[in-house]
Amino acid sequence: MKETLAKIVLRLEEIRKEIHQNPELSQHEFNTAKRIKTYLKTYSVGTVSTVANSGVLVTFDSGAAGQSILLRADIDALPIKEINDFKHKSKTSGVSHKCGHDGHAAIMLGVAELLSKYPLKKGKVVLLFQPAEEIGIGAESVLNDPHFQKLQFDFVFALHNIPGIEKNKIIIKENIFNANVKSMIIKLQGKTAHAAEPEKGQNPAMAIADILHYIEKETNNNPQQEDFFLITPVHINLGEIAYGISAGAGELHLTLRSWDLGLFEKKCSNLEKFIKRTCEKYTLGFQISWTQVFYANKNNPAAIDFIRLAAKTNKFEIHEMSHSFKWGEDFGLFTQKFKGAMFGLGAGENTPALHNPDYDFPDEIISTGVQQFFQIIQEINKN
Ligand SMILES: [Zn+2]
Ligand SMILES: [Zn+2]
Repeated sequence: MKETLAKIVLRLEEIRKEIHQNPELSQHEFNTAKRIKTYLKTYSVGTVSTVANSGVLVTFDSGAAGQSILLRADIDALPIKEINDFKHKSKTSGVSHKCGHDGHAAIMLGVAELLSKYPLKKGKVVLLFQPAEEIGIGAESVLNDPHFQKLQFDFVFALHNIPGIEKNKIIIKENIFNANVKSMIIKLQGKTAHAAEPEKGQNPAMAIADILHYIEKETNNNPQQEDFFLITPVHINLGEIAYGISAGAGELHLTLRSWDLGLFEKKCSNLEKFIKRTCEKYTLGFQISWTQVFYANKNNPAAIDFIRLAAKTNKFEIHEMSHSFKWGEDFGLFTQKFKGAMFGLGAGENTPALHNPDYDFPDEIISTGVQQFFQIIQEINKN
């Protein structure tokens, strides 16, 4: 097994770099999907199909009764300009794999190869190469695909590489793995006036200032606390660059996150009420819309046990997280529907953070990811 794995990993490093060089944004992963399918046709015996337009499914069915397991890898890149200068740097200007989904895809291809070399004796395994994770709609589009809706799973699993933690450690967090996240777009409509006579119009500037003060007061950016609630302003726009005009319209974009869904919805609705009151105070029209909704991943205890058992069999070190991750991950939709869990894979203490322009997925952790997923299947099938 060891020798086979070493050979497979060399190939996986190559395909990982190829995907890295040819990144595609969320919902546009068509060539990435093509590469994945070509690889699967050459090195795997699973049944390959398309899901959610630019996603790929590969199914391994033993034909014997048993558990049905889904393993998921995400495959999309980000609108970030890569500043690395290595041979496999991104060939697409302004787009790059800064979340390591190239590595997640390579790991899943490795699992497909192992499942082809060491066939299942019972049950069924489906590997999902999921599009559009970064914009929070990939999981939903897979779950809404009629072809996928026919499938039922006893367990679902996904991993994410985690920079800042030693390479090859298996990172476990019981219960909530990562935050509920959604983004809010606030459009404020006032009335322009001469800059010398702002009192004859309605300038939304002070309303924006009040909203920002409210955000500062409401935010608790301490992930150790249960009432963690973080609001981050991501974009503000007000008026035009014209010095004779008092602004007549403004826009504020925020991202909000917290652990508990009940608390999250209450705080979001309080913010909406505050905006309404503020706009009344300044006689402004307003429009609120929500986008990019991610639900927290709720890790199932039985699924966590299988992750622990697999790490133990593989002799991988476990890193217990004391608090959940602050980012959103659309795998939360899968763990709402099926029993499952997400775990982390240490990507190195000195590896740049996710979404940093100099980040690159470390190839040294591919083998650990492949073995960990493969062993989770074995542990479940021991029962
Ligand atoms: Zn990301
Ligand atoms: Zn990611």
